[in-house]
Amino acid sequence: GSFVPPIRNNGSNVGNMTSRCAGKNDDALEDSTKACLEMLCGPDGELPEKLRNLEPRLIEHVSNEIMDRDPHVRWDDIAGLEHAKKCVMEMVIWPLLRPDIFKGCRSPGKGLLLFGPPGTGKTMIGKAIAGEAKATFFSISASSLTSKWASIFSLIGEGEKLVRALFGVASCRQPAVIFVDEIDSLLSQRKSDGEHESSRRLKTQFLIEMEGFDSGSEQILLVGATNRPQELDEAARRRLTKRLYIPLPSSDKEARAWIIRNLLEKDGLFKLSDEDISTICKLTEGYSGSDMKNLVKEASMGPLREALRQGIEITRLQKEDMQPVTLQDFENALPQVRASVSLNELGIYEEWNKQFGSLS
Ligand code: ADP
Repeated sequence: GSFVPPIRNNGSNVGNMTSRCAGKNDDALEDSTKACLEMLCGPDGELPEKLRNLEPRLIEHVSNEIMDRDPHVRWDDIAGLEHAKKCVMEMVIWPLLRPDIFKGCRSPGKGLLLFGPPGTGKTMIGKAIAGEAKATFFSISASSLTSKWASIFSLIGEGEKLVRALFGVASCRQPAVIFVDEIDSLLSQRKSDGEHESSRRLKTQFLIEMEGFDSGSEQILLVGATNRPQELDEAARRRLTKRLYIPLPSSDKEARAWIIRNLLEKDGLFKLSDEDISTICKLTEGYSGSDMKNLVKEASMGPLREALRQGIEITRLQKEDMQPVTLQDFENALPQVRASVSLNELGIYEEWNKQFGSLS
């Protein structure tokens, strides 16, 4: 399905393929849409069966906006989370690399849930999976599908069509990883008063698509991420067979130290001693990975501010005029960047993990 003909179509058969695509003929299509459809055509110049009844502009949207050819995250960029990495390796990466071994009893689940507080690396894991398994990465935020604007105005049914296009294009780009952020807003158990008919249909469509590739031999993995796992309903839990808790690096000083070192070293700003790092780690109990990143950013402003204080003009400032980041810079930055997750919230994740999580 992912075969791309070495010779570009000259367009002579484009009419052919698009005329089957949701009843549109090629005159009605923009050049960019035609080019995008051509890329998805098989060697015979025909659009794969699954895409024929989909709207070309949605196929184009999925290919250009949702598909990410190079997610740029490697395993080594992610600090800590050893249990999650190990599970993901076994459940996802090996089966994608060796589908011949992972069949029958060993056939992997097709749905993975990453849950935990915000900013702990769930999105990074999704991207790293795609990178490591050499899979095409599709990333969508569920709230963009369920946004009330999409359902209230003329776009009724739009979300469902987009979901169909998403799974359709993914199946032509296998192996594929579909990452759905805030999946709770799509697969929530809450029947709120305001739940619109269209969001119910959207959920049904999503579950149907998942069911479809779950039973088949398709190499598509759905990775859902959520900060509110308790909102997921039973049907969603059933399809997301592996459920991994992605906690704060709070018990993991090593991970916090690693983030500091890694970010500063990348910019050539690292000169902290082991003792300094250990002090910063003690002061950052309860910080998420993303809080740590913001702290490093704030701390690295210290040497810049200091150079300006000494009278160097910003327009004349050279890199060499700035000192490496110090412990004092971190201490100054701490009141500016506080931990974003409260202890109460952590209790909820831990409870849910005990009940539904895939434990180590
Ligand atoms: P989530 O999806 O869990 O909300 P992200 O994966 O988007 O969080 O993380 C946000 C940012 O925080 C990342 O881009 C990264 O810079 C930093 N970060 C979070 N967790 C980690 C981690 N475990 N290792 C390294 N960086 C992290």
